[in-house]
Amino acid sequence: MSDSNKSKHTVILGAGPCGLYAARVLTRAGQKVTVIDKGDRPGGLATSHQRDGNWYDLGCHMLHEFDKEIWEDIRDMMGNETIPVELNAKIRWAGSFYRYPLQGGDMFKGIPLGTLFFYTMGLFAAQIRSSLVPWVPKNAEEALVMLYGKPLYEFFFKDFTHRYWGIHPSELSATFITTKMPRLSAVDMLKKYLSKIGIKDRGVHAVDSALREETLHYSTTGAEAMPRHIARTITDAGGTIHLNSEVTSVVLDEASHRVKAVRYRQNGVDHEIACDECISTIPIPHLVQSAEPSAPADVLDAARNIRYKPIAIYGLLVKKPKCIDALYIYYRDRAFHRVGEPKNAGLKVTPADHSVLIVETTCEIGDEKWRGTDDFKERVFSDLAAENICTRDDVVECHILHSETGYPVFSLGFEPNLDKVKSWVRGISNLQTTGRQGGFTYPNMHSAMRMGARAAQAVLSRAG
Ligand SMILES: Cc1cc2nc3c(=O)[nH]c(=O)nc-3n(C[C@H](O)[C@H](O)[C@H](O)COP(=O)(O)OP(=O)(O)OC[C@H]3O[C@@H](n4cnc5c(N)ncnc54)[C@H](O)[C@@H]3O)c2cc1C
Repeated sequence: MSDSNKSKHTVILGAGPCGLYAARVLTRAGQKVTVIDKGDRPGGLATSHQRDGNWYDLGCHMLHEFDKEIWEDIRDMMGNETIPVELNAKIRWAGSFYRYPLQGGDMFKGIPLGTLFFYTMGLFAAQIRSSLVPWVPKNAEEALVMLYGKPLYEFFFKDFTHRYWGIHPSELSATFITTKMPRLSAVDMLKKYLSKIGIKDRGVHAVDSALREETLHYSTTGAEAMPRHIARTITDAGGTIHLNSEVTSVVLDEASHRVKAVRYRQNGVDHEIACDECISTIPIPHLVQSAEPSAPADVLDAARNIRYKPIAIYGLLVKKPKCIDALYIYYRDRAFHRVGEPKNAGLKVTPADHSVLIVETTCEIGDEKWRGTDDFKERVFSDLAAENICTRDDVVECHILHSETGYPVFSLGFEPNLDKVKSWVRGISNLQTTGRQGGFTYPNMHSAMRMGARAAQAVLSRAG
């Protein structure tokens, strides 16, 4: 590495898995790196927070092995702190438990024959329609009907999707289904039979479903161990990580269309650092709104129309050694949509005869779920009791964790706004926006890290 390359300084906005991994790749290549994050610990969504001696994830986070190179790198960093865990997830549906992802055999076991016939006919009708006429779905509702048939959509997806997003499926973009919704293997199986008899599926496709048998990785301190280890390798290699530091401005050089500096506020004090390259993993609207001088008015308007769904996570310490027979269970019609028990994946809980539950909800900032009103907590506790998970009296502590940007919202018509904003960013030659928040997409941790690695490679190739 020449001295001139070494002197290049990359500023990375955000210390989630994407930003951290970008910094890992760059520091390993000998580059000067500074990471800036507003949180009080590295990891973004994918960390845990310590409350009264126990660790609580911001939604259960386990690492997949799908990206072999990244997995091996993480394994080498973490050594024996990773705990391999077999995927054991369930869906609670119509009074029964189903394995997640939904399997064909389970479906046949659990659903009355008449109902199954009805769903199959719906799927059959949808598949005939899409095999006869090209059918481009106008919104998520049409995409779901096309994928699963009307009866299954009405029964399984409609209300759940509405409650989860706070938006009717007809107001969500079809892109949401094609990029976020996992395929149901049971439905895939029926579609295969239909295509064997000549009724081919030419409609939309959901993403590949999770594998039934898969090894995940966790730790005794929850999700926090992985970002902690990546952060350590970055600082060991000479990189700097500023926590409790909110990005306030991205300063542009108008003549060269480049980022020349980043300003951030740490503990009430303003700082500015110069940079040669900038990788942003913070929410893309925030990046655009912090540009100085301002982005054009139409770009700022487009940025205002890009929204995220906040999440409120209820971390409960319960006086029961074990509450559920799974890593996590999805619920369709409860105050929460998923309950995880990370102790079943190896989390150390104090006292040892207690357990921790991670109860996940989507919300709006300031609503009853976000604030954790007594009424809402009572609904959570009574739904947990109704599901035989734990009683109100079992709950010893309740901690609420938040993220304002839990999920990108693919509302109807979001695509042109996103395109406009991304194309403005592309016009700034040394700025990249990536990761879950910066790319406005739905990666898992390994994919977010891969996005970070790609951004770092782009910097390295520009550095020669
Ligand atoms: C409930 C839930 C469960 C999940 N479970 C899993 C799982 O089991 N396995 C899995 O692989 N993936 C899981 N994911 C996905 C995983 O969280 C993401 O893939 C990953 O966090 C994306 O990393 P990122 O760095 O792109 O974004 P983030 O983790 O969101 O990081 C962005 C960072 O930017 C910082 N930031 C934002 N604004 C500013 C600002 N103005 N100034 C400074 N810093 C700022 C934030 O503090 C944050 O640290 C889950 C996601 C959710 C919501």
